Amino acid sequence: MKKEELVKALSQDTDPAPFFAEADRVRREEMGDGVHLRGLIEFSNHCRRRCYYCGIRAGNAKVRRYRLTPAQILDCARTAARLDYKTIVMQSGEDNHWGPRQLADIVAEVKRETGLAITLSVGEHTKEDYKLLRAAGADRFLLRFETSDRRLFSMLKPDSDYDNRFRCLAWLKEAGFQVGSGVMAGLPGQTLESMADDILLFRQLELDMVGIGPFIANPDTPMAGAVGGTLDLGLRMVALTRIVTRNTHIPATTAMGSIDPQGRQKALRCGANVLMPNISPKEHRVDYSLYPGKICTNEAPEQCAGCVDAMLVSLGRRRASGYGHTLKSIEASPR
Ligand code: SAH
Repeated sequence: MKKEELVKALSQDTDPAPFFAEADRVRREEMGDGVHLRGLIEFSNHCRRRCYYCGIRAGNAKVRRYRLTPAQILDCARTAARLDYKTIVMQSGEDNHWGPRQLADIVAEVKRETGLAITLSVGEHTKEDYKLLRAAGADRFLLRFETSDRRLFSMLKPDSDYDNRFRCLAWLKEAGFQVGSGVMAGLPGQTLESMADDILLFRQLELDMVGIGPFIANPDTPMAGAVGGTLDLGLRMVALTRIVTRNTHIPATTAMGSIDPQGRQKALRCGANVLMPNISPKEHRVDYSLYPGKICTNEAPEQCAGCVDAMLVSLGRRRASGYGHTLKSIEASPR
């Protein structure tokens, strides 16, 4: 699809039903009916950055900060293995407490103990640090570029650099990670043109995974009171990303489920093939408060697993087997 076609498809004036059906067809053809479950461990909400949209930004005094111990992280990973998840995603703010060496040690231990696939989502680091984490046994890395609009990016992330974000994505690939990126949909000032560019960039970067969620204004950030993204826009982005990138792993994100009780189900029906059930300890879930209304903050890991399995049954889908590694070819690290 060309940029103009994408802009048109993203517009509210276009009926999305035909391309939602097309995205569902491409998903079935390329990825099958299996849905990969990735257990999400939010292991620290300390962050050195001040991203305007994010609830755990540095300086937000309302956040009760926490950091799981290595033993707690390992415990979460064991829970994931017990629930028969094949991947854990370790996500955090950019927490200075963890040096790359320490983080690598935890990754290595989790890998040794559980054998699970490990995805990291820990922000911007040096090329050397990425290599270290990869060598320790991390398989994948998620780093959303958030928006392809350079001006909007620098407004939203005052202490990050647009070019460095993309440099990090290149370094991750070089280090042999399966690389995921993504954006928020419906940011203030974000145009349909820039969202069409986001989608074209997903293809150009040959990403293995793409996560898309609606922007949800957080009252404890400088963006308090801003108009958020809609489910409709998020779904259009998911569907078009599926059509354009074909065999990328695309999650039905928590943010989708947070703005609409059927959000994740709808995403799974127009292109998504991954779910990321939360396996963080219950007592800390409310504190990983990226945005208000986040779902599953009151549940234990087992409850999320039951809920997700029931969701799959209701959609006529099933858990996928295997680790759910990338379907794109990886040169740096054959599996
Ligand atoms: N510190 C890591 C992990 C970030 S949290 C990093 O920077 O990569 C994961 C994602 O949550 C972010 O990439 C962002 O896209 C999303 N997010 C943060 N605040 C949000 C908000 N208010 N609404 C919707 N999504 C948000």
